[in-house]
Amino acid sequence: MLIENSLDEVKKRETSLKIIKSIINNYGRNDLYDLTGLSGGFLATANDLNLLETYVGPAIFEEKLQDLGKVHLGGKKIFPVNRTSSGILATILALVPKHSCVIHFLPELPSHPSIPRSCKLKNANYIEFDDISKFHIPKNTSLIIITGATMDHKVIDEEIFEKIIAIATDEKIPVLVDDASGARLRTAIYNQKKATELGADLVITSTDKLMMGPRGGLMAGKTDLIDEIKSHANKFGLEAQPPAIVAMVKGLEVYNKEDLLNSIEKKKKLIELLKNDFRMFEESPTGVMFSEISLKKEIANHKIDTTFSPKDLCFLWAMILLKEEHIITIPAVAMPGASATVRFDLSSNDACKLDIATLHKKIKNSFQVLLKVATNEEIATDIIFNYK
Ligand SMILES: *Cc1c(COP(=O)(O)O)cnc(C)c1O
Repeated sequence: MLIENSLDEVKKRETSLKIIKSIINNYGRNDLYDLTGLSGGFLATANDLNLLETYVGPAIFEEKLQDLGKVHLGGKKIFPVNRTSSGILATILALVPKHSCVIHFLPELPSHPSIPRSCKLKNANYIEFDDISKFHIPKNTSLIIITGATMDHKVIDEEIFEKIIAIATDEKIPVLVDDASGARLRTAIYNQKKATELGADLVITSTDKLMMGPRGGLMAGKTDLIDEIKSHANKFGLEAQPPAIVAMVKGLEVYNKEDLLNSIEKKKKLIELLKNDFRMFEESPTGVMFSEISLKKEIANHKIDTTFSPKDLCFLWAMILLKEEHIITIPAVAMPGASATVRFDLSSNDACKLDIATLHKKIKNSFQVLLKVATNEEIATDIIFNYK
């Protein structure tokens, strides 16, 4: 075992940050390729930041955010929060009485941990489904949550979405849509309607996912519900602060679904090239990815007898990609407990700097390194934990 617990994951992340810093110092930011699709951004001019120092700034930006947020998400009122997890927590605090049921439908398990964790705080009875034929609503249900796209970018079927909304409307139960990446994936890539157009009462999206915004959450929905959520959020400091609001405004201003659509062309090219050398790659909506299990199988196909677990192999390859090829993927930098699936997101800003043939070569080269170290625990440990 290379990575045994969350403490090891924290250490691995620290190694990654050291490597990133050294790449930037030695080669410059331009030679680093963040392909996580989570890089977001903080677009603000000196003028915007000057405004922030007065009380005028928040007034201006909060009003702009109302307008831009409604264009992006629909709904009657917008509420910016610190993270999507904060908005989910505030909604559950506001709308879920103790011991009532919260029902969650998502296209594929597992759910984002913030949903069950928030329910636990309210002693709510949390039930989740990823099979619509099993979906049902117990008597004292206070909230229905739909996940539009999962952490691994599995997208809900729009007909199933509508079916759940119809059931919720019949039962007069409010619906919150966790559209963290879905607000863009579903609409730009799959041509689906906005969650509010499909009849959701509330929706939340992550402003750093597939758009150039800061880490943050943007909620939209019915005015009375948003007001209630807002009052609970303010009690616990879950709301977004002015600097994040400025960056949300800027991120929404430059958001263009064409940028996401362009990634599809690139993805098709890359998957064709990768097919010559690998069996494990699958398409994701805006890139290519492989799971822990398929990586383990691919390595076995090369007759390499490694004792490392599938998860360790993902972490190890992610670290090699970073160190040798200057490519950042989620397993190298994520917080403990995140998925080990390695994804190359071609909608990321840095993807423009890499032509597909070069990316293909980088993936192939780093895989050769992985094959060499997959049987050497000493070197593998060094790669993950010891960077000088
Ligand atoms: C990323 C994500 C979240 C949480 O977003 P944070 O901003 O990290 O709190 C919640 N749900 C889904 C489906 C996500 O992908």
